[in-house]
Amino acid sequence: MHELSICRNIVAIVSDAAKARRVRRVTLEVGKLSGAMADAIAFSFDIATQGTVLEGAALEIKEVEGRARCEDCGAEFSVATLFDACACGSHRVERIAGEELNVKSMELEEAA
Ligand SMILES: [Zn+2]
Repeated sequence: MHELSICRNIVAIVSDAAKARRVRRVTLEVGKLSGAMADAIAFSFDIATQGTVLEGAALEIKEVEGRARCEDCGAEFSVATLFDACACGSHRVERIAGEELNVKSMELEEAA
């Protein structure tokens, strides 16, 4: 499953940054054009975090709308798929948002 390998990556990045402290909350930015499903990520997160410092951490997913800019007329518009054309009919569009899949923030437990 695609999302499970994404979550294993996230666990690796976050646990590295947490330096053995327990992680309370992780916020992800998931672009709607990234190809990853928020539901599947939430499900995989529980599996991928087992036995790590992220186990039991709350997961928050912020979905990011797809946005693109037309290279012909310069218009910016929201896109639902990777193949949307501009209202002017141009297909030369540059995607400017919606493909991200980032760890936006994390919250650690206070050091004892
Ligand atoms: Zn256009």
